[in-house]
Amino acid sequence: MASEGIGRKEPLSAVQSVFARKLQSGSPPHAVIVEGPRGSGKRRFALWCAQALLCTSGGDKPCGVCDGCRRVLEGYHPDLHFFGEESTVTVADVRELIRQTGLVPIEGDRSVYLLSRAEKMLSSAQNALLKVFEEPPPGVTIFLLTESRRALLPTVRSRGLTVTMPGLTDEQLYAQLRLTHPRASETELASAVRVAQGSLGEAAAFLEKDAQEACERARDWLDACLSGDVYRLIGSIATGKANRDGLLPVFDVFLRLLSDLLLSRVGGTPVLLREGEAYSLSRRVTKNALARMCGQALVCRERLESNGNVTAALSCFASELCAIAGRTVSRDVL
Ligand SMILES: [Zn+2]
Repeated sequence: MASEGIGRKEPLSAVQSVFARKLQSGSPPHAVIVEGPRGSGKRRFALWCAQALLCTSGGDKPCGVCDGCRRVLEGYHPDLHFFGEESTVTVADVRELIRQTGLVPIEGDRSVYLLSRAEKMLSSAQNALLKVFEEPPPGVTIFLLTESRRALLPTVRSRGLTVTMPGLTDEQLYAQLRLTHPRASETELASAVRVAQGSLGEAAAFLEKDAQEACERARDWLDACLSGDVYRLIGSIATGKANRDGLLPVFDVFLRLLSDLLLSRVGGTPVLLREGEAYSLSRRVTKNALARMCGQALVCRERLESNGNVTAALSCFASELCAIAGRTVSRDVL
């Protein structure tokens, strides 16, 4: 369990203040939906709330130093329960949660439940949770952590207090990434900030080695497409790892790049590319050709995802892209 949480001496964020006020009023919420993208601090916030609920000091809560606060941070408080940390919460997990909420807390009069990755829960598991989420036994508070509130059933959504984690500003993200990724280039950092849209987790994932390789390869595909040189294009697609898992991220980035060029053609703001770069690249090809490339990339991505033959899918993809570039080649190009 990683040490997370916030000490008392740090100023409260806006979302913490909402919770602190409810706690001070003597009626802490019993069901809280914490929404925010990966890396936005959902878990950290929920743990801070758990500290506030399980703090044993007499003053402002959480004190951050009492036995209760400390054990929440260390992850072994007997009245703090985690679900969905390793795998998606199932109906069986929810039944176990309901059983536990019926028990008397071990130390005080409160118990706290943290359900992670709630957006992955099947409807059946969410339905099983409904009753206890709406009206848990006294002293029980349940936190549902989710990347998207919309992934929850409307009946679940309507029963909890929703707290939306604010994303970081571009400047905050950049400063954090500079510290955590000292070897990343300025271009990589700038791209990560643009792609992440406030989420530190997304930005960090973007800078991982595999993600960077996928970016380089997708860029190579794009440059080859725009060059109109079919041999370069075929060579580019044939080069590199050819396994399904390695290719899917390349297609994702390739689609993002194409979408940047399409956006630039209609006066929009690109996400992955710098504006000037997107503008000049997008002028090298027609809108129609860009849209057709997107279509072919989506078709190939779908074939790969549904376990189609990798070489056949890539061959077809390369052949279709060559056709868009105005050259006919065999469908068995690879
Ligand atoms: Zn405390």
